[in-house]
Amino acid sequence: MSQITQLLNYQKKDSELLALEEELSNSEERKKYIQTQSFLKKASDKLDLLEGKSQEMASLFERLKAKYEEIAETLKDYEHIGELVEGGADISFYQRSAQQLTDSLKSLKSDLAGLISAAKSAQEEYLSLKKKVISAQKQYPELKSAYQEYKKSRQEAADSIAEELRKIAEGIDENVLKKYKVKRAERIFPILCEIKAERCPKCGMELSIAEKDMVAAGKVVECENCHRFLYKL
Ligand SMILES: [Zn+2]
Repeated sequence: MSQITQLLNYQKKDSELLALEEELSNSEERKKYIQTQSFLKKASDKLDLLEGKSQEMASLFERLKAKYEEIAETLKDYEHIGELVEGGADISFYQRSAQQLTDSLKSLKSDLAGLISAAKSAQEEYLSLKKKVISAQKQYPELKSAYQEYKKSRQEAADSIAEELRKIAEGIDENVLKKYKVKRAERIFPILCEIKAERCPKCGMELSIAEKDMVAAGKVVECENCHRFLYKL
């Protein structure tokens, strides 16, 4: 049997293995398992983010509190304003100061409103995330074992194909098989293709004159563009 025919046999059997691999990677079992796994990973990062946010809000609250205390302290001056004015103090100074205090209070009020709204939305975000995490954590072990079960059930079929592939491989040149496996790993498939109208049937690249001669002599060439093995029987 020629090398080309043997490699074609190998590829035909290998396509069964590829179909099995695709079936596994596209299975609902795997999708659900991977999705939940990645959600839990992202949720953990998100929780760290929320923790950082809550620390920022706490320190902003401390700063606002200090501002409030400062204003309250200044307001004490006004308790005895009557006496001060009677004693000849400059009333316009106190008028300006009162205006500044009013402005400070206004800005404090708006900062506080912002903080309260941020705290509320952070809390809502946290509660909704927590609910989802609890539900995902509950489901995770079940999803994991369902996926592993499914994988195991397909493994037997995969093992049997792999065994047949080993037998076919015995008649194939080692270097050729090595190259084949590299391409397979690069997700090129089918790897060995029959030339159609002097072109690669997959990407349409035309063969060079030298390649046409080689092919005519029964040799396999590599497509310059998509790197498939090309032959003519
Ligand atoms: Zn090609």
